[in-house]
Amino acid sequence: MSAVTRFAPSPTGPLHLGHAFSALTAFARAKAAGGRMLLRIEDLDRSRARPVWEALIAEDLAWLGLTWPRPVMRQSERGPAHEAALARLWRAGLLYPCTCARRDIEAAAGAPQEGAPLHGPDGVIYPGTCRADATGPIPADGALRLHMRKAALITDSIQFSETGCATLGTVTVVPETLVARIGDVVLRRRDGAAAYHLAVVVDDAAQGITEVVRGQDLFEATAIHVVLQRLLGLPTPAYHHHRLIRDDHGARLAKRDDARALSTLRAEGWTPPDVRRAVGL
Ligand code: GLU
Ligand code: ZN
Repeated sequence: MSAVTRFAPSPTGPLHLGHAFSALTAFARAKAAGGRMLLRIEDLDRSRARPVWEALIAEDLAWLGLTWPRPVMRQSERGPAHEAALARLWRAGLLYPCTCARRDIEAAAGAPQEGAPLHGPDGVIYPGTCRADATGPIPADGALRLHMRKAALITDSIQFSETGCATLGTVTVVPETLVARIGDVVLRRRDGAAAYHLAVVVDDAAQGITEVVRGQDLFEATAIHVVLQRLLGLPTPAYHHHRLIRDDHGARLAKRDDARALSTLRAEGWTPPDVRRAVGL
């Protein structure tokens, strides 16, 4: 089986040094194993995704010297595959509709009898307000959550193999952790689009990804992805969680920060070797 890695940016802003590190790592790991890196555009957030950002992503990656096969997968074109996966989970009784607004969730989780609100990979862990054994046909719209306790009864402990700097070897996540530290994550958003966790799992499988290269900030989310792979009968790739690139003040570079974009550095005369040096490659 030849190695397939991927770089999966959201086209909601310019790429910065953190993205460059992730893409260079994914590319180098694929090449070292005689395989290839795929590009996937994660444009499910229609309110924020822009074609100009997608074009700039391709320009920045090409400038860095990376290559990838075309056509590129775009998540916005994967609706039927995402819906089929949601339908399967619904039929298995593992989803339920949720009408909570973010402030309801924070209020319920922050109620005095609940103790300090616990945070999971998606923010405050869902307090279970709408949790139900949903039956009948899948609702045509509205948010759907995964019933994690039921899911964990099916999957039991989950395992994945970590090839990154975090904890080399096999990572095991027990059902108690899935229920208490992750909880009922959203798999279909209120606007009817697949949520990130669902889409990433379905699309990694469709692209035949053998190793997911991503930042350590997604380490907890990976457990959700492995649960979904088990429930959907999809293979589990290896996971390579890499260190995060921080700015001069030690803060994480995120698209929201005014971290300087690769395109800005390029305009200032940086070369690809300058980028590699700046991220410690
Ligand atoms: N679109 C996600 C991001 O930009 C993908 C990360 C991943 O699943 O590896 O962070
Ligand atoms: Zn709810």
